[in-house]
Amino acid sequence: MSELVKFLFEGLPVRGMLVYLDEAWQELLRRRQTVGAHAPEVRTLLGELAAAGVLMQSNIKFNGALLLQIHGDGPVKLAVAEVQPDLAFRATATVVGAVPPGAQLAALCNPGGKGRCAITLDPRDKLPGQQPYQGVVPLHGDQREPLQQVAQVLEHYMLQSEQLDTRLVLASDERVAAGLLIQRLPVEGEGNLGGGQGGRRNEDEIGQSEAFTRIALLAATLTREELLTLGSEQILRRLFWEEPLRVFEPMRPRFACSCSRERVTGMLQSLGREESDGLIAERGRVEVGCEFCGLQYRFDAVDVAGIFTPPGRQAPGSQAVN
Ligand SMILES: [Zn+2]
Repeated sequence: MSELVKFLFEGLPVRGMLVYLDEAWQELLRRRQTVGAHAPEVRTLLGELAAAGVLMQSNIKFNGALLLQIHGDGPVKLAVAEVQPDLAFRATATVVGAVPPGAQLAALCNPGGKGRCAITLDPRDKLPGQQPYQGVVPLHGDQREPLQQVAQVLEHYMLQSEQLDTRLVLASDERVAAGLLIQRLPVEGEGNLGGGQGGRRNEDEIGQSEAFTRIALLAATLTREELLTLGSEQILRRLFWEEPLRVFEPMRPRFACSCSRERVTGMLQSLGREESDGLIAERGRVEVGCEFCGLQYRFDAVDVAGIFTPPGRQAPGSQAVN
């Protein structure tokens, strides 16, 4: 069952989370098949983005959507994962051209060195004029070396934007998308529960926490295979059996899409009457498939006429079919 498990190391300035998406991830892939399945390389990238998105959404106190977007200059033009505060998530990618077999992040999204990863927090109840918060990081490291893993890109982001030492392990296949996050807590911060008094000032400096270094090294021994096949209980026991671990009740991430007939109607309205009528004349109907969930929205001539008729004179619209 898909789950997100939070844990902390009692008395140490370190916390962690483990996400395991199985049926929720499989549902996303199944729905995507109706509009065309992703290449395995793209699927892996999206699974890792989805797992990372769930981890990052759980890691903040924020009432709104968290979006991870990779804008690429290779075959993957855009890869996006969106996670709501209740851990409902969706993800999709826009791919143009052939995907090289075995391609990783750099070949998929960054062959020209212009790829970017944007992390957006979009508040649910926006104040007038309020913009979503967005942070952007490149897909290369400090020495301009291209990064091969989404996890490395996001570790950079956390360090740069939040001054938080983070270790992230991500993995995904056709069955599971999963991730482990380990983070050093600011010692004076609210998340710090207990902990020794000595050496606090040292520990508060990035990279200076001995406990974090030890736990991050343990986390780094987790293999892709283990992350994809062992359950959370087994992973935590295997990695941290010597550590004072406190594990919280799991949360249940799920796949959900926020598309609707109203939004597609709005899209047709902005497309304009002439374009929409042109599509009707050409094909007899307008079909719009949601690339996140595969739902097909169909509009016939009467529906389209209704969209462009002033309110009060509208004919009832037809329903979306799956
Ligand atoms: Zn949808």
